[in-house]
Amino acid sequence: TSNKEFSAQEVIYRAQKLLSASLEKYAIAVHIDIQSNFTRLGHANEIVQVLINIMNNAKEAFLAREIKERIIEITAFLDNDIPVITLQNNAGRIEDAIIEKIFDPYFTTKESSSGLGLYMSQMIIEKNGATLRVENVDDGVMFTIIF
Ligand code: ADP
Ligand code: MG
Repeated sequence: TSNKEFSAQEVIYRAQKLLSASLEKYAIAVHIDIQSNFTRLGHANEIVQVLINIMNNAKEAFLAREIKERIIEITAFLDNDIPVITLQNNAGRIEDAIIEKIFDPYFTTKESSSGLGLYMSQMIIEKNGATLRVENVDDGVMFTIIF
């Protein structure tokens, strides 16, 4: 793929569509709120893969923690002119000792998983000139892509 213009809405809806079977199977509601449909230059497919990685982690957390009401909220907005996409889930918070390691290669708390998902996601985001952050918010976790 090439470095082309893509919109926030386009990458968010593509990720949701690619995961739709799994989201439906596990009764995960995705709430999308596009406050600003900003555009960026970059590799849209790579950004879509990052959104999918983050949503798959949320799905795994919902299942592991036996959360009944499963919600992923995705927003796109401008924060003082800086384009931002956030993904938040209500699958519970991440312990401090763990949250500081989640972007490390091969770090996983799962029985048989690579631990490369967020490491690769952060590499992809940085390669596209953006930053990926995580924080605990309310009863879950929020990932923020700052372009
Ligand atoms: P993997 O999914 O293979 O374990 P990742 O790099 O995708 O590797 O994630 C690393 C770790 O971060 C996970 O094993 C998990 O402990 C934690 N994590 C990531 N996303 C979430 C989330 N939404 N809720 C709780 N923990 C999470
Ligand atoms: Mg993962």
